[in-house]
Amino acid sequence: ASPSPTVIVIGAGISGIAAAKTLHEAGIHDMLIVEATPRIGGRLMKTQFSGLTVEKGANWLFGGGPVANPLLDIAKKLKLRTSLNDYENLTSNTYKQEGGLYPSKLVEEIDKVATARDDFCEKFSKKLSSKKKDVDVSILAAQRIFKQVPKTPLEMVIDFYHNDYEDAEPPKVTSLKHTYPRNEFVDHGEDPYFVADPRGFEIVVQYLAKQFLSSLTSDPRLKLNKVVREISYSKSGVTIKTEDGSTYNSKYVIVSVSLGVLQSDLIEFQPTLPLWKRIAISDFGMTIYTKIFLKFPYKFWPSGPGTEFFLYTHVRRGYYPLWQHLENEYPGSNILFVTVTADESRRIEQLPDEAIEAEIMVILKKLFGDNIPKPESILVPRWGLDRFYKGSFSNWPDSYSQKRKDQLADPIGPVYFTGEHTSNKYIGYATGAYFAGIDTANDLIECFKKKSCRGYNRNRWH
Ligand code: FAD
Repeated sequence: ASPSPTVIVIGAGISGIAAAKTLHEAGIHDMLIVEATPRIGGRLMKTQFSGLTVEKGANWLFGGGPVANPLLDIAKKLKLRTSLNDYENLTSNTYKQEGGLYPSKLVEEIDKVATARDDFCEKFSKKLSSKKKDVDVSILAAQRIFKQVPKTPLEMVIDFYHNDYEDAEPPKVTSLKHTYPRNEFVDHGEDPYFVADPRGFEIVVQYLAKQFLSSLTSDPRLKLNKVVREISYSKSGVTIKTEDGSTYNSKYVIVSVSLGVLQSDLIEFQPTLPLWKRIAISDFGMTIYTKIFLKFPYKFWPSGPGTEFFLYTHVRRGYYPLWQHLENEYPGSNILFVTVTADESRRIEQLPDEAIEAEIMVILKKLFGDNIPKPESILVPRWGLDRFYKGSFSNWPDSYSQKRKDQLADPIGPVYFTGEHTSNKYIGYATGAYFAGIDTANDLIECFKKKSCRGYNRNRWH
């Protein structure tokens, strides 16, 4: 890499790598990718747990829809090991707070109401979209208009499955208009391919990077372990300072760090970003989705067809609600994992692992008896506390306008932004991050070609 490349890309997650690859393919080879951690992949992140590879971050790819999912296509090319999850039997696997299963007929009835509510939400969202004025409401408001607000613990756990499990935030804070219908499912499909491969989901990012980098550790265009702390920008270019005291200059920069990082004080912009940009960043939602993995010496939960998932009902909404075993992916692994989100994630991130394990064991004993063994190990990812992520993915709040969302992605002079939170259609998803990287790079390529650049269009960037 030259000492002053044309473009610096900050972050080597899927959006940063997709952006860099797009620039490379357009003939812009003079670039530097600066990544805080020792690896590429970002929130596509595998880890070893009890001798197996599990995904701390993204786990599912979606397929079966009318539009090809480019990441699923890459996964197929790489023969990535995935299994199609089956949620069909969830209504037969719903446990009461003090133990014992609910009659499946009752759960089915409640699930039917939830599905009807989803249909109403979709129609109501379309209606709002047809209005000239940018009117939006929360999903909860739409549920109220439908006169079917989940109230009992059972109704709430089903609602969690229909909403929080996907958005990682409850209906009361989530935008109806920008969540229903979920574009990822409408376009790419609802078939959930669960990645369970020793190479990890991150192999997809490595595959993209290998198209233009000679090595994922020693290519001079890739700088790992470089934590960007300052971005100074002006009409003449950009200067980047990293934690270890290095300085890099370039004409342009693409910032692909998460929304959570932008909301934190990890990176200082000089001059300060304009107020409209800071509002756009501060007001969007960054949430937390936590998969807690537990390895047991033996299996004491039901296994076999139709048992992959179970629900736990509690008066406290979102209290260890959705469970999955890994017997289909890794037979004999004796691993269970439970998903918590939002405020519950924020709460448990503050607890030591032993305290989380103790809470979980109280539940499992209620469901499966006092004689069940202690887990041999537990894995609790803490995405919210990690200074390089500060959350798991973004979620569109109900009060947030389309105009603000456009501003979130807008460049400021030579500073371009990308990442899943800037995606047009698939915010939160890996596909969203991938397309966002391509879109941002294309914006910049336009800027090179036409010599008219979006970042300078409005003349309101300083
Ligand atoms: P990132 O992957 O965050 O990339 C940004 C990069 O910037 C990172 O590598 C980071 O280390 C680096 N960085 C941060 N700060 C600095 C700095 N100061 N200097 C230099 N580098 C820096 N999506 C799905 O499609 N399906 C799923 O099932 C799914 N489940 C998820 C579950 C969890 C728990 C999480 C966390 C995410 C999940 N997602 C899922 C979302 C998906 O992982 C993300 O949308 C996507 O990976 C984001 O990519 P990105 O490039 O925008 O950001």
